[in-house]
Amino acid sequence: MSKVINLAQWKQQKESKQNADDPVFGFLIWLHCPTCQTIEYTEVRIQSGRVHKCGTLVEEVEVPIDIRAEYTISQKNLMILEKAFAENSGLKSKFKKLLGENKLIGEQLKKNEMEYQHRLALMTLKKIDPYPEDWDAKKNGIEFVTVQPSGIMITAARQADKYFPKKK
Ligand SMILES: [Zn+2]
Repeated sequence: MSKVINLAQWKQQKESKQNADDPVFGFLIWLHCPTCQTIEYTEVRIQSGRVHKCGTLVEEVEVPIDIRAEYTISQKNLMILEKAFAENSGLKSKFKKLLGENKLIGEQLKKNEMEYQHRLALMTLKKIDPYPEDWDAKKNGIEFVTVQPSGIMITAARQADKYFPKKK
């Protein structure tokens, strides 16, 4: 069944909210300084290369990503962490010390996700809508590992050692 729409409607549809399954393409750029052995990521693409504060030319790997997929998974991670915080707060005192440490790790994980989402937002002028609830990362070809015990998902794009394997 085909629907006939006029040009004005078509334009409006194009400009309105993203379709449920439209990816938004972007790049995550991993940077490695071979002198300092530091690894970090950025959303800023530079053609001419960049120099680290130590004066060494930085090795760069541009990883193509679907910004929406990365955002959706990061949002799920935040929900997992929030749920873990809520469950932990109800536990008995003998676990408090252990949980105190875990909570710090949890806070750090939460910060990582928020920072990542911030960078994703900087990659596109569009507002990032997460995929619908029933969207499945695996079925859509997104590679990721699930980190235990937290249960959060780290996509291939975020796995720095994939791009700069540690030399021993
Ligand atoms: Zn350096």
